[in-house]
Order: sequence, then structure tokens, then C-alpha cells
Amino acid sequence: MSFSGYKKYIEEGDLVIIYMTRDNMTPIFIKKDTTFNNRFGIFHHNDIIGKQFGSKMVSSNYRGFVYLLHPTPELWTLVLPHRTQILYIADISFITTMLEMKPGVNVIESGTGSGSFSHSIARTIAPHGRLYSFEYHQERVNLATTEFKEHGFGDIIKMHHRDVCKEGFQMKDEVSAVFLDLPAPWDAIASAKEAFKQDRTGKICCFSPCIEQVARSVTALEEHGFIDITMYECLIREHTVAPLQKIDFSDALKDAQERRAKGLPSVDSVAIKRKLCRDEPVPTADEIESTANLMLVSKTIGETRGHTSYLTFATFLPPSAIQVVNASSSSSSD
Ligand code: SAM
Repeated sequence: MSFSGYKKYIEEGDLVIIYMTRDNMTPIFIKKDTTFNNRFGIFHHNDIIGKQFGSKMVSSNYRGFVYLLHPTPELWTLVLPHRTQILYIADISFITTMLEMKPGVNVIESGTGSGSFSHSIARTIAPHGRLYSFEYHQERVNLATTEFKEHGFGDIIKMHHRDVCKEGFQMKDEVSAVFLDLPAPWDAIASAKEAFKQDRTGKICCFSPCIEQVARSVTALEEHGFIDITMYECLIREHTVAPLQKIDFSDALKDAQERRAKGLPSVDSVAIKRKLCRDEPVPTADEIESTANLMLVSKTIGETRGHTSYLTFATFLPPSAIQVVNASSSSSSD
């Protein structure tokens, strides 16, 4: 069963994500002569075998239905067994982009934790890239190793059982990206620097929940010659979309003149600008298009939610580039 590919029909031994509702999904391995029960009824694995991934399946006692989804790293992040805090998709997608991960890239991550980010990294860098994942908790190493193998990432993810803050990564000239989700990432930065490919630039990210940790990581990154040190935070901002009637310029002018004649404030144009009532359904795109004077506007609410951690990014400069920078700065000061 592979998370990076896609197969059409469900077979015995496959992992299937059972989708009940948006907030209720569960992973199951298909095993002949067993059943899966939930509030929507009884589902026999024998009936699941041979069905297409993505199909809707009605329970054998007709109480309801579920969808049989193909596993992906995104779905796995939503259903995986939590052994630690994990990364979610908003941070995962941002970090993946900022660390310039793509097929063929070699990456280090530590710690492995519950393997949420590992699945997304492995899918992104497959088939030729390698993820070197470091974790010092023995049981988490064992569980992650088994899971990565079962999910078809056995060749891509290389698990290491090690305290990276004390013993380092023990790698030289190997990777283009490093991701540190550790309580003390600054202790692993010197060793990360050695692990970068020494003939090109590389990218590092430290994921830390509080600003004091960010400050220590920034100091360590500066001491080790990293450049472009930048901190981001991914937050959720809701957009409320509401339909408003458009006002054209001549109507607005007429409205303003009438208001002035009546001695009313000219800015208040509610007489023309009608906001639809809250419980009125938002019109479809077709309805909006056919109603010339209606438009959808979006308003953000002031409050932002979703703090997970601060993301501190920096760029590794290879020794050859540092020599060029030093030579040009000394010649310009001559
Ligand atoms: N990013 C992971 C995910 O998405 O599932 C979660 C990582 S979890 C928050 C942090 C992990 O780092 C824990 O499993 C912990 O055991 C491990 N860890 C902490 N300090 C470590 C160290 N010095 N060396 C290796 N692993 C370490």
C-alpha cells in the first residue's frame, strides 16, 4: 500500500480511510472475515474488498453509509494515532514550500514524533529523495519504522534512534533541507550545518512554540553563519462572504445630492446599498452573474486563531559562497 501512488481497487491488507463526516474519519486495515461497526451500521470487510477507492458504501443493516478513501499524507495527519503533538497541513505546506522540497531532495527532520510531517515530506521528495528522520524515544522510533514501511515509505525514510542535541546528525554533505521540531533546536544547529551539501545553498526551519526559543535559535543561526533569518507564524483568518448590491456612480451622486438637500449625512448610503439578510442563502456564482447589480464581498474578522508554533527559517551558505562574499567586501573596503 503506497501513500505516494494511487490504486483503484481495494484489496486485503490495504489501509482504507473510512470517512463518516468531515470531522469523523478512521483508518482501518482490510482483513477478510472481519467487520467494522460504527453508528452508521455494520460494514463487512469482505464487501469492501474489490470496491473502488472513493466509493460510497451502505452498511449491511442499512443504517447509513461511509466513503472508502485512499490514504494520503493529508488524511493521515487527520487520523493518525497521536504519540506526540503533531504538525498540521497549514504549517506542513508552508514549511515544505519554504524549504524548497521537491522530488529528489534529501531532507533531515528531528524529532519524528508521530510521523505526521514525515509522510508529507516523503511523498514530496519521492522517489529518489531521502528523508533522514531522527528521534530519541525508542518506542516512537519502533512505531514510526513499522508505519513508514507499511505505508510504502520504507526505502525513502531512514529512521535513526539518536539524541541529536547531544550526538548530532553525524552526516556530512548530504542534505538540502533541515527541519527541527525539538525543545532545544539551537543545540542541533552546528551539526545541521555540517549535514548540508557543501556546494550549494540549503534551507533550515526551527519550529518552536514560544518567542524565547525563537530568540535562542536566531542567535545560534547567526553564530553559525546562516543568513536571511526570518520568522513566520501561520494563523487562521476567517473570511465572511456576503452579497451586496452594487451602486453605480450616477446613483451614488443622486443619493448624495438628495441627502444633502434633506440635510442628511452623505456617507450613509444604506438606502441604495442593501445587504442581504443573514439567513438569506448566499447566491450561486450563476445567480450573481445573472443579477447585474449584485456582488460578493468578503470581510475578515479581527480575531486570528490557530497559533501552533513560530517558524524560523534561515539559509545555509556554502563555504565557497562565504569566501566570495568576504573577498568582495574586503576589496570594496580597500
Ligand atoms: N513533527 C512531528 C510530527 O509532525 O509528528 C512531531 C515532533 S514532536 C513535537 C517532537 C519529538 O522530538 C518528540 O517525539 C521527542 O521525543 C523528539 N525529541 C526531543 N528532543 C530530541 C532530541 N534531542 N533528539 C531526538 N529527538 C528528540
